[in-house]
Amino acid sequence: MCYIWKNPTEPKLEVTAATLSKLPGGFDNLNLSGGEPTLRRDLTELVEVLYPKARIMEISSNGLHPEKLVPIIKKYPNIKVRFSLEGDEATSNRIRGEENGAATKIAGLRMLQEAGGTDLGFAFVIQDENVDQLVKTYEFAKSHGFELATSTLHNAWQFYKNDNYFYDRVKVARQVEGLVSGLMKSGKVKNWFRAYLNLGLIEKILGHPRLIPCVAGTGFAFIDPWSDVWACNVRSDLPLGNLVRQSWDDIVASETARNSIGKVRACEQNCWMVTTARTAMRSNLIPQAPKAGPLMWVLKNKLKVSLGRKIDFDKYIDYTDVKPTPHVARRSYLVEHEKIKLVKGRDTTDKHYPLKVFENT
Ligand code: SF4
Repeated sequence: MCYIWKNPTEPKLEVTAATLSKLPGGFDNLNLSGGEPTLRRDLTELVEVLYPKARIMEISSNGLHPEKLVPIIKKYPNIKVRFSLEGDEATSNRIRGEENGAATKIAGLRMLQEAGGTDLGFAFVIQDENVDQLVKTYEFAKSHGFELATSTLHNAWQFYKNDNYFYDRVKVARQVEGLVSGLMKSGKVKNWFRAYLNLGLIEKILGHPRLIPCVAGTGFAFIDPWSDVWACNVRSDLPLGNLVRQSWDDIVASETARNSIGKVRACEQNCWMVTTARTAMRSNLIPQAPKAGPLMWVLKNKLKVSLGRKIDFDKYIDYTDVKPTPHVARRSYLVEHEKIKLVKGRDTTDKHYPLKVFENT
């Protein structure tokens, strides 16, 4: 799903805690993701700098080194942690090219639970190869007191990959309905809105336009390993600035940022990732509240499910309109063991991101 591992960054060029300390406070959510955050030797320092700046601090990890998060969770139990898990043991290990990965992550989340963690869960990338295990993985997570975050295949410069397509869109989309219904039956309000987010994933899987326009560059931004700030991690033509050379205020007020934000409004990419969806679902007036569209959908369907009725997915989703998809088999590295060499001197954006065009249909 992602070739960041084939394009490692030189640690000495990576964004530092001092650079990140230039970010202002008051963010709703800051997510330390990868590559792999637990490979940073100064992860604790990064957390110390970022934790006070956000309402929710999140760490997205492959979960292969959970022990590195134990001291962090002991100090900050409410940090949100998500470990990548793509279904049952055999499926998750095969998709991710890991040996013993699933067992390590499950044991790892338990370890963090014992350390006092209060917001722990798995992150599941929905695709043809694992969608049949989506509901089971949700039930498994729930039964252990863990959350399940979902996304689907996307292409993006951050992933160095442009062949993340679905093979059978309708089959995949139909199976996500089970998760949407399951989430709506839950007693947690948060899960009802996750159900709407997953409804958006069904639209994305079928190749339909986003449920709500994207707010990249205004609702969220992305800082890459070289301290470059971008409106999003999908299009490499949406720069905002650089946090080493500029202050955050200068970046936000810059002409570069204005130009990129202008392009976001006309963006034809069909992304619906957690960040792009969650921010778009929020009210423009009260950021903690949802927009009217998601709110109405949730209220209507919660009532329906509470009365023992089923969600009428065909009323919301046009299953007769499905985008064609190229059938590109994704490789597994579980048996191939490709050895990666660090390429030094990648000192321009062009060298950082050699693939230029990314398509999300
Ligand atoms: S919809 Fe466009 S601007 Fe928004 S995340 Fe996707 S590529 Fe970026």
